[in-house]
Amino acid sequence: MLIPLANIQTIAQERQAATIAFARQIVQIPSRSGQEREIAAAISYEMKNLGYDKIWTDEAGNVIGKISGGQGPTILLNGHMDHVDPGPAAGWPYPPFSGQIVDGELWGRGSVDMKGPVACMIYAASLFKQLDFSPPGDILMTVPVMEEVGGLGTRHLTSHLQADAAICGEPSHNTLRRGHRGRVGLHLTFKGRSAHASTPHLGVNPHYSAATFLTRLPIMEMTREEGVGASSVTPTLYVTDQRSPNVIPGEVRLTLDWRNVPGESPETIVAKIRALLNSCLPENETTIEIASSEFTTYTGLRTTLPDIFPSFLLAEDDPFVQAAHATLVDVLGRDDGVDIWRFATDGGHLMTAGIPTVGFGPGDEKLAHTNQERISLAQMEEAVVAYAALILALAEAAATN
Ligand SMILES: [Zn+2]
Repeated sequence: MLIPLANIQTIAQERQAATIAFARQIVQIPSRSGQEREIAAAISYEMKNLGYDKIWTDEAGNVIGKISGGQGPTILLNGHMDHVDPGPAAGWPYPPFSGQIVDGELWGRGSVDMKGPVACMIYAASLFKQLDFSPPGDILMTVPVMEEVGGLGTRHLTSHLQADAAICGEPSHNTLRRGHRGRVGLHLTFKGRSAHASTPHLGVNPHYSAATFLTRLPIMEMTREEGVGASSVTPTLYVTDQRSPNVIPGEVRLTLDWRNVPGESPETIVAKIRALLNSCLPENETTIEIASSEFTTYTGLRTTLPDIFPSFLLAEDDPFVQAAHATLVDVLGRDDGVDIWRFATDGGHLMTAGIPTVGFGPGDEKLAHTNQERISLAQMEEAVVAYAALILALAEAAATN
């Protein structure tokens, strides 16, 4: 390593209480997608106090902090500031925005997904300032908005930022991740003919077409890929064009959540669904479209984006994966191997923009989006050191490849 590990460990330990206090502070600021103004200000303020060389907010409201380094490769860190809805408060052992610390864990919505990891990354990048050590190249700490609704923030970031390698800091139990399946949202509209419910023979009820399709869907053959397993699909939402219970609807709309392996494009998915429809409903004029939604950021930027979270997968022998793995074995003193995530992250958008990305973050990912959400402080402590070491390892790997 370019700087003794012991120096990083010592300064990380000195800053541990401040790291946790900051994580706790941002858990206490609700920041649903599109409502991140207050947390963005708190993050910028902290970066300023930590001595970041440049801090700015782009037009989507993403916060970017830069630690200036030498002429070497730029390393980007990525962790979103929004979170999913906490749901009914009654289900939580502690109020979702209280930031309670109980038995060595920080509780609350957004604690593990992913304000705890964000605090660790923000502090890790700043350690070089405190150590008065200039990293080989620039470090860009990016904290995007609106990840939970499709990644508008990171999609926007990659339109104006470039880097030689990136770390997606989503929780991984402090183990290395090299990719994940993607997600594609689809709308199927089954057409029928509306009629009075008392005379069903005069109409064509689209529920039956949808039902025929739905019974075939679970037995559809899914694409498998070495390293990531198989794609999967499940129906989620179902609506009709009618509100009255005594009318046969003219059409019904079904939403499918498709998790695709890297080799399966959205076009391939649409073709597969079309083939299944043709095999079981040859007469039906069912339409298939990739879902899209309009988003407005807290800064007022409006965009319509397709409901596509790209998958990604770096090879096991990829130089960045190998460098990151060796570093983690060294820093953590154990070999947890390399795995993939089960869910989609902003890492797919970074990879789509041509930035090689590895995944690493503290906390148990299975607690994300649940009312038991919390993060282990011990894992956060370990992660700060690991992030700092990973920044240097990726910069070295980028310089030599
Ligand atoms: Zn997340």
